[in-house]
Amino acid sequence: MKKLILASNNKKKISEMKEILKEMPIEVKSLADEDIDIEVVEDGETFEENAKKKSREIYEFLLKRGDENFIVLSDDSGLSVDYLDGAPGVYSARYAGQHGDDARNNKKLLVELSGIPKEKRGAKFTCQLAMFTDQGKYYAVKGEVKGYIIEELHGEGGFGYDPLFFYEPLNKTFGELTAQEKNEVSHRGVALKELKKIISNLI
Ligand code: IMP
Repeated sequence: MKKLILASNNKKKISEMKEILKEMPIEVKSLADEDIDIEVVEDGETFEENAKKKSREIYEFLLKRGDENFIVLSDDSGLSVDYLDGAPGVYSARYAGQHGDDARNNKKLLVELSGIPKEKRGAKFTCQLAMFTDQGKYYAVKGEVKGYIIEELHGEGGFGYDPLFFYEPLNKTFGELTAQEKNEVSHRGVALKELKKIISNLI
């Protein structure tokens, strides 16, 4: 069976991706599952540059290792807030300085938006997927979802900015959704739905 390797070290992201991809007839593996200890430097200016770099570096590593019959998939994602001219954007993971410190990132976002009215707190999540096949073919798919940033954390689910991201159609923050509810509407869910069609034609 072909292997789909998720080029990420973010456990929460990986678990969402594995859940969304679980019914596909392909073996889905993380870098840790594959004993790959590579941290790709995300120095691109766009989500796509970063996503492509992540999947390309892992693709090249696997070729060198002699692997065959695989696909590499990466996800570069983030939050863009209208009032902040699209920040934190590609810097979402390290908005407050340290990579992946969700609590400090959320705190910083609340400080930046302090006193700003609801109508200016519009935001979107973007998920940029980038995929290389073992034959070197490249595919990119983007998913987005709109919401706004509320004034305090709500919900324990998800990760990152989820407890601050209010999704009006369900009248809840992403942090208040079940994993399944989030996957149905999220930027990652939307992008992966599209990508699954491409993967189906490759396996
Ligand atoms: P990446 O690992 O560079 O793609 O960084 C992604 C960062 O964007 C995460 O650390 C979160 O701060 C934020 N992010 C991406 N996707 C989500 C999501 O589904 N919910 C909440 N925050 C997210």
